[in-house]
Amino acid sequence: MAYEMRFCPNCAGTLAPIAQMEDSGEKVRLRCAACGWTHWNNPTPVLAAIVEVDGKVLLARNAAWPPKMFALITGFMEAGESPQEGVARELKEETNLDARTVTLVGTYEFLRMNQVIIAFHVQASGTVRLSPELLEYRMMELQDLKCWPAGTGYALADWLRSRGREPVFFTAQEHQEWRHGLVQPKETS
Ligand SMILES: [Zn+2]
Repeated sequence: MAYEMRFCPNCAGTLAPIAQMEDSGEKVRLRCAACGWTHWNNPTPVLAAIVEVDGKVLLARNAAWPPKMFALITGFMEAGESPQEGVARELKEETNLDARTVTLVGTYEFLRMNQVIIAFHVQASGTVRLSPELLEYRMMELQDLKCWPAGTGYALADWLRSRGREPVFFTAQEHQEWRHGLVQPKETS
């Protein structure tokens, strides 16, 4: 569920939209009239992994997603870790795989969720054992990967380009079907 920020975390006063001068000019934000605390609402960093094992890319399906919707491994960055450490931790927690190399692909917006995606290419090894968070996974040949028109899909496209492959995107209809769990990636073994 989405939570709403209603009270000041400093003094428990009620937050209200209050205009105030900032570097960029006057700006209305949720602020506390009692102590001056401001709710900046900065985007949350999310780590994403294009996981490569023996030349194939792992796509996984989250338990909360519709059937047949597969995507990259993602997770929230935690306090006290670097993005590279965080993506390796997420990979271990979610798939049991060990990261061997972690290389930045790029950073991407996810405005709808107020998140910023930091995407990595991770070469990994080990035996896949999914966490309860994930229901199933597919090992994809590069030529069978299709990109979705959203943050992590653009990351996958940029990575494919770096490997000399022109990315193929889902058509608008395929994307709708993907989001509703009607198409699944073709797996080659
Ligand atoms: Zn306050």
